[in-house]
This record gives sequence, structure tokens and C-alpha cells, in this order.
Amino acid sequence: MSQLPEMFGSNVFNDQVMQEKLPKETYKALKKTIQNGEPLDISLANTVANAMKDWAVEKGCTHYTHWFQPMTGVTAEKHDSFISPVGNGKVIMEFSGKELIKGEPDASSFPSGGIRATFEARGYTTWDPTSPAFISDGSLYIPTAFCSYTGEVLDKKTPLLRSMERLNSEAVKILHLLGKENVRRVFTTVGPEQEYFLIDKEMYDRREDLKLTGRTLFGAKAPKGQELEDHYFGSIKSRVSAYMKDLDSELWKLGIYSKTKHNEVAPSQHELAPIFNTSNIATDHNELTMEVMKKTAEKHGLVCLLHEKPFAGVNGSGKHNNWSMSTDTGENLLEPGKQPENNLQFQLFLAAVIKAVHEYQDLLRITVASAGNDHRLGANEAPPAIISMYLGDDLGALVDSVINGTEYISKGKVKMQTGVEVLADFKKDTSDRNRTSPFAFTGNKFEFRALGSSLNIACPNYMLNTMVAEELSEFYEELKDSNDITAAVKALVKKVFTEHQNIIFNGDNYTEEWVLEAEKRGLYNLKSLPEAYAHFMDDKNVQLFVKNKICTKQELEARYEIELEAYVKQLNIEALTMLDMSKKNILPAVSSFVKTLTDTALAKKALSDKIPVSVEENLVFDLSEKLVGFAEKTTELETAVSKAGEYSESNLSLAKYYHDTVLAVMQELRNIGDSMETETASQFWPYPSYTDLLFGV
Ligand code: ADP
Ligand code: MG
Repeated sequence: MSQLPEMFGSNVFNDQVMQEKLPKETYKALKKTIQNGEPLDISLANTVANAMKDWAVEKGCTHYTHWFQPMTGVTAEKHDSFISPVGNGKVIMEFSGKELIKGEPDASSFPSGGIRATFEARGYTTWDPTSPAFISDGSLYIPTAFCSYTGEVLDKKTPLLRSMERLNSEAVKILHLLGKENVRRVFTTVGPEQEYFLIDKEMYDRREDLKLTGRTLFGAKAPKGQELEDHYFGSIKSRVSAYMKDLDSELWKLGIYSKTKHNEVAPSQHELAPIFNTSNIATDHNELTMEVMKKTAEKHGLVCLLHEKPFAGVNGSGKHNNWSMSTDTGENLLEPGKQPENNLQFQLFLAAVIKAVHEYQDLLRITVASAGNDHRLGANEAPPAIISMYLGDDLGALVDSVINGTEYISKGKVKMQTGVEVLADFKKDTSDRNRTSPFAFTGNKFEFRALGSSLNIACPNYMLNTMVAEELSEFYEELKDSNDITAAVKALVKKVFTEHQNIIFNGDNYTEEWVLEAEKRGLYNLKSLPEAYAHFMDDKNVQLFVKNKICTKQELEARYEIELEAYVKQLNIEALTMLDMSKKNILPAVSSFVKTLTDTALAKKALSDKIPVSVEENLVFDLSEKLVGFAEKTTELETAVSKAGEYSESNLSLAKYYHDTVLAVMQELRNIGDSMETETASQFWPYPSYTDLLFGV
């Protein structure tokens, strides 16, 4: 495809377009804002807005929208047309600097965790010039941050931008201390690998549970799952391939570096990975990617499922957040180099990450908690709920040598010989992969693997950035007055490695031994969202965000309430959906099947009492018994849901109740339902089966 370079970014108001469309001075000023975070002179906004509008209209746009990321977990947009009346019934197309910079959505209809009352509804969206505007479906999209009239943060982007700024200033201070005076900025970088399921739209439309909750609430296992390991990296079916091609070109037009695509472990499961970018753009692009994935699927008669666990019994979907820090001079601060034992700068930044992950393991666990992701963590398909770090043999040996004051012997890069003449020899990586670790060093970056597939990556990244910034600022305080900086850094690194080595675990995270070992080491094992969130407002966590000016205590409390509420609502919807499915469809379906069996048995008997009816009789007996159990469980679930009000003294107690009681009854109800499915004739069962869903494309 020779046109790819031209097509790439063709729907983005990118550097090239800005250069073409803006007066030189405006371009330079805007560029400074984007690269160095310098505030933009408002007087330039009119010029930028006008250029954006001309460009967008040329490309067929009629509307613009401020695009933002409220606490709902999905993005929000409201479209205004460019038209402006000029009398005599005519209009012109207009877009002012004021409209570019500021929008006023009604803040009261978005979750605010009690910060906002309906009567003080005003909210503002503000243009984020560091993430480029783009075109989609006839509208100009302007990435924005969202806050309330009184300035409280109501979105996910603002804390992310603040945390990037914090990490930048602390990292630059440290680098200057180490003699790298030429570094002016440090960026955090992220490459999110996105997993998803693709299923047939017709099947999807017949599943109430998928439509209302994103996951199957009933469904007996298909005779085949993922045990043959034949789907991972398997050849891509033509219908899926057509989808992936279409998806790639849509993403490329939006300037998204979609790079890798392949089949994943579970049947119907796939992955897309982009090339990394700054955390802010990577976040916006990941949100866009998920939306484009869903929209593109519709065009192909497919549905893209981003839920963390759409199907029981096969793997769910996650997101790997590859994270690093790099300088404006082009240096990756997590690159160990050829001699990591002599690379004190690397060791110091590594120490900051190790200390951060150890001290704030609970926050990292909290940030990936959701009703959906709870089904994955700890289920031996995803990292466990225990947060630990994998460094690999080489780096692990380096840390040990620093702690023990012994010599470090690197295994170095070993030549890989295949023993086949025609195959070229190559050098192996120094560390193997450990797919079971939630937080793994992978050569020159860390891969945080516990994220759920539908999560907005802004949250894990603002937490990660903030905790590392905090450690760096502590390091700076300790180092800044020292006469011998080399000796001081060495001593600090040794101290940090020694005190925080408990967070490092290079073994298999899926074993029972690790659970016991982690407990001995005093690491958290927060198994569910309510257990994890119980630690959100711990003093040290509140202080982290307040001291680093990421959120106020009130804003944190709001976030805490919003997430707990979302969890309760999600589980409540799931429970109600199950009740609906049970009463309106499953119960009547099995009952009709039983009636047919009974009629058949009676008819046979009427014909002659010599015809055996044991098959029908046994099934009638068995299913009738199960139906009784099923009906009882349905009532039990109904009662459990109706009693929830008794636990509403706090969102946390309500969340706990839903987890411990409602979810448990749901599982029991499902077990009986699934067992009836295996005995009911397909023509009677009201829903497409797992075989239809997972092998239907
Ligand atoms: P794997 O499947 O082996 O984990 P992939 O190649 O699918 O690896 O994904 C690796 C991801 O890490 C890519 O998105 C890549 O761009 C990203 N990445 C590479 N270097 C960095 C870096 N310095 N900072 C952030 N992300 C990075
Ligand atoms: Mg990966």
C-alpha cells in the first residue's frame, strides 16, 4: 500500500497541517505550548480556531465537538455546527477562539461523586493543545479537559496531565543533579496493547446479557475451548482479516500508530498494539481505538466486545500498559545500556520505580479494579491480585549484587544458534519473559499487565507517574546537598534496593506457594474491588495526591465514591438481567421442553406399554428437579437484590454486600442454568450457545 504514508494522519490537525495553515508566529507559539508545556497566548486562539475550521470544512465537516473523558469510563461529546446566521436567511461557517478554548457542558449529568449538586450544574471543558484535534464522521474533535464551575476536576485527563508535569519537573531536577544539564523535559511514554473479542452481530443481538452487561451471565462451556492452543497467533480468518484491515486504515487516518495485530489465546479473541507515544496522546488514542474498534465491527456485521470477561471458561481480555520515561534529548531513562552495573542514572530511576511500586502496591491494585476485571485477576489467565515486580535474571542479579556488595556478572547477550545452516544466528535477549507477573521489566520499559481491556488508561498512568514523581522528589532532597554525588547515589540505590526487595518476584505468579510467600513478605492480596477500595483513602495515598497537587482530598473522595457506585450499579444490572433471563426465557423454555418430553412419553405409552420411555422419564425427572432448584435460586437472587437497601450506609458496605452475597447467588443460579442448558434440546434453549458465539465468525 504505497499510499499509506499519505493516508496516515490525514484526518488529524497535525504538525504538517498546522505549518501549512497557520501564520509562522502562531505556529511557533503553538509549537512551544505543545513541546514545552508553555501556556498559550489566548490572542492566538482565534487564528488557530479559524485555521482548524477551514481545514475541517474543506474535509467535509459541518460540526465541532469538545471531546472529553468524564468519570463514566467512556468518552463524551456534544456536537455544535459551525453555522452562524448573517441575516436574509443565510449562514456562514464560523469557529472562534473562545469556542475552541472553552465549552460548557452541563456538569450535573456526569458522575461527580457528590461534588456537584444539580442546581449548580455548570461545568467547563478546556482545549488540550498537547493532543491533536481530529476529524471523525463529519465533526472536528477537540480533545479537552473537564472541570466544574468551581474548579473541581471531573475527568481522567486532568490528573494525567498534572502527573506528567510532576514527573517531568522531578526527573529533570535529578538529571541536572547527575550532570545532564542539557535535558529540558522528561515525558512519560505508554504503549497499550489492547485485547478484544469479535463475535457475530446476529448472535450478539439474541443475547440479552451481552447487550445489557457486556458479558454472558449464563452459558454452558462449548465442547472445545482454548485447550488445543490453536488460536493464539493462528492464521486470521478472512472475515476477521477484512475487519482488521479496515480498522487499521481508520486508525491510521486518525494518526494512531497501529502496529501489531494477531489472534489471542481464546477463540474469537484478538489483539492490537500501537507504537508507544506520550502518556497523554497514548490515552486519547487508546480511547479512540476502542471506539473505532466498535464502530468498524458494525460495518462488518460483527460486534467487538471489550468486556474483561465476556465468556466463562476461556481467557478474558486485558490491556498491557508498557510504560517508560524519556528525555527531550532522546534518552530512555529505563534503558540499562551495555553496562547497567556502571549506569548509576539507570539504577536510580529503577530504584524510584521499585520503591514506588512497593509503597503504593495498593493503589496499583485499586486502579485496575472493576466489576469486569475482578473476574480475571487471580484466575490464572491474568496476573494475580498480588502486585509484585519481575526484573528478570540479569537485572535481578544486578539488584542482588548491589544489595550484597558483590561483583555483578552479566550473562550478557548469548548467541542463539538454531543448528540449521540457512537460518541466521542472532543474539538472545538477556531476560526471558514472565507472562505471569503483573509488573514486568521488559528490556527498557515496564509492562503493567493487570489492566482490564475496557479501562481508560489515564488512571493507572496518573497513579504511576505520581508515585514515581514522589520518589524522585524524595531522592532529590536526599541527594541535592551531597559533595560526592556518585557515592551518594550508590548509597541511596543500595538502601532502596535493600528496603524494597520484597516487591521483586521473578518466579511463577500463578502458584499457591507465591500466595503464601507474598503473605510472609507482607504484600497485599486484595482479591476484589471492595477489598481493594477499602485502602483508597488510606492516609499515605491521600497525601501522595494532595502533596503532588494531582487531586484534592475532596476530589479523591469523589473518585472513590464514583468507582464504588459504578461497581454496585454494574452488579445490580447484572443481577436484574439474570432475573429477567431466568424468569422470562430460561424457565419457560425448559418447562416447554419438559412438557414435550412428557407428551412424547405419554404418547408412547398410549401406543403400547412395551415401548421404553425411560429416556424421556429420566430427563423429565432430572430437569424438573433442576427447575425447582433454579426457581428457588431465582427467588433467592431477587430477595438478595431487594435487601441491598439494608447495606446502604456507605457505598463501600454496599459494594461488599453485592460482592459477597449478590454475586455469590448469581454464580449459583448460573451453575444450575448452565447444567440445564447441557440437557435441553437446542431448539428449545432461548439463547445462542457458547459454540455459536465463540466459533460463529
Ligand atoms: P509484547 O506482546 O511482546 O508484550 P508488543 O510488541 O505487542 O510486545 O508491545 C510492546 C509495546 O511496548 C508496544 O506498544 C511498544 O510500542 C511499547 N513500547 C516500546 N518501547 C516503549 C517505551 N519506551 N515506552 C513505552 N512503551 C514502549
Ligand atoms: Mg505484552
